[in-house]
Amino acid sequence: MAVQTVAGNATTASPDLGPAAALSCRECGERFELGPLFACASCFGPLEVAYDLPTGSPEELRKRIEAGPDNIWRYAPLLPVPADVADKPNLNPGFTKLVKADNLARELGVTGGLYVKDDSGNPTHSFKDRVVAIAVEAARAFGFTTLSCSSTGNLAGAVGAAAARAGLRSCVFIPHDLEQGKVVMAAVYGGELVGIEGNYDDVNRFCSELIGDPLGEGWGFVNVNLRPYYGEGSKTLAYEICEQLGWRLPDQIVIPIASGSQLTKIDKGLQELIKLGLVEDKPYKIFGAQAEGCSPVSAAFKAGQDVVRPQKPNTIAKSLAIGNPADGPYVLDIARRTGGAVEDVTDEQVVEAIKLLARTEGIFGETAGGVTLGVTKKLIEAGVIDPTLTTVVVNTGDGLKTLDAVSATSQATATIKPSLDAFRAAGLGTA
Ligand SMILES: *Cc1c(COP(=O)(O)O)cnc(C)c1O
Ligand SMILES: [Zn+2]
Repeated sequence: MAVQTVAGNATTASPDLGPAAALSCRECGERFELGPLFACASCFGPLEVAYDLPTGSPEELRKRIEAGPDNIWRYAPLLPVPADVADKPNLNPGFTKLVKADNLARELGVTGGLYVKDDSGNPTHSFKDRVVAIAVEAARAFGFTTLSCSSTGNLAGAVGAAAARAGLRSCVFIPHDLEQGKVVMAAVYGGELVGIEGNYDDVNRFCSELIGDPLGEGWGFVNVNLRPYYGEGSKTLAYEICEQLGWRLPDQIVIPIASGSQLTKIDKGLQELIKLGLVEDKPYKIFGAQAEGCSPVSAAFKAGQDVVRPQKPNTIAKSLAIGNPADGPYVLDIARRTGGAVEDVTDEQVVEAIKLLARTEGIFGETAGGVTLGVTKKLIEAGVIDPTLTTVVVNTGDGLKTLDAVSATSQATATIKPSLDAFRAAGLGTA
C-alpha cells in the first residue's frame, strides 16, 4: 500500500502556530516543517508536534495560565496555536469539571481520593471538542476550506459544530449504523454527513483514499492529514487534571482507548508539565480501557506482545470501536513504562458501570464512560489499581447520545392515575 505523506493545499508562507517549531517523527526523530503532514517521509512513522516550550520560572508560567480564559486556550503557550487564538471563532472547549467522586469511592473502596474528569461538559458533549479545536486552528493556518474526518460518532458532531462556528465547510464520514443520538448530533450543524456501509476501519480507509484524490483537495481531515495537531488537544486533559488537583500529578489515571491517541497525548501532556517544573516529578500509572468486543490493545497487553492484532469490532461502545488502532503500540509502551495496564470489560459490565456512575454521582456517561469505569472497578477488584492512591477516571462523553445502552432498564418506575390513592396502592415513594 502506498503511504500518502503530503496532502492537500499547504500555504507556502510559514504558518503561525505559536510555540510549535516543527513536526518530528515518533520513530526516527527526523524533523519536518510545519504542514499538513502525518507520516514520516523516511520511515512512515507518525509525526508529532515539537515545540519551543516557554522558558522562565514555573511560577510565572502557572500565573500566566491561571490568568487565562476558562477553556483550553489558557494553555495556549503549550499548544500549536497562535497567541491570539482566544479571539478567533472557535467552540472554546475545555476546563470541564473534575468531580471528587466520594460516593463512588465509598462504593468501590477507594480511600486515596477518586475523581471523575467529566468531559461530557464540552460544547458537543464529548472530549472530541478539544482535539477538533486545535485542528481548526491548523486548518486555518494551512488555508483549508473544508473540514472533514472519519468518525466513530462523536468526532463527526465535534467537526460539524466547530466548522459551523469557524465559518468552514464540513463533510464528515461515519459508519452507517451509529446510534441515533450521534447521527442527529452530527447532522444538525448543517454540513454534509455521509454514512459509509462498513465499520470504522472501512471509513478510515475510504478517507485515506479521498485525501490522495483531487476530490479531497483543500480538505483538512482532522484525524488524518491534521492528525499531529489534532492529537495535541488531548494534552489539555492532562493539564486540566493536574491544575485542578492544585498543580499535582494524580497517581493513577484510567483512559478509554479507541485509536489510542487520547491516552498517548495525555501521557505527553503529563511529561511536559514535569519538564516545565509545573508539577513535581513523581511516578504515575496510566491504565487503558477497552470493551471486550473491541479489545485489540488489551489482548496484546495481556499476551505480553508489542504488536496489536486487528479485530472486527462488536460492542455497544461504538465510540471506541476501532479494530485497528493507529496508536495501539504506543499505548502498550506507556502502560508498561508507567506500571499501568490495559483491560477490557463486557457490554453487560459497561451498562452496569454507566448506571453505577449515574446512581452514585449524578453523572450520565456514554458507553465509553461505562467502559472506563467498568475497567476501573475490575482493576481495583483485581488489586491492580491501588485504592489507597489518588485515581482519576476520564468520562469522555454524554449518555444522552447512547440512550439505547440503558433504555431497556431505565424507564418510569410506574405509571398511575393522578391520585394519592393510586400512589399509595402502588407502594411508591419509598426509594
Ligand atoms: C474518540 C473517543 C475516545 C477515544 O479516542 P482515541 O481515538 O483513543 O483518542 C474516547 N471516548 C469517546 C467518547 C470518544 O468519542
Ligand atoms: Zn521517521
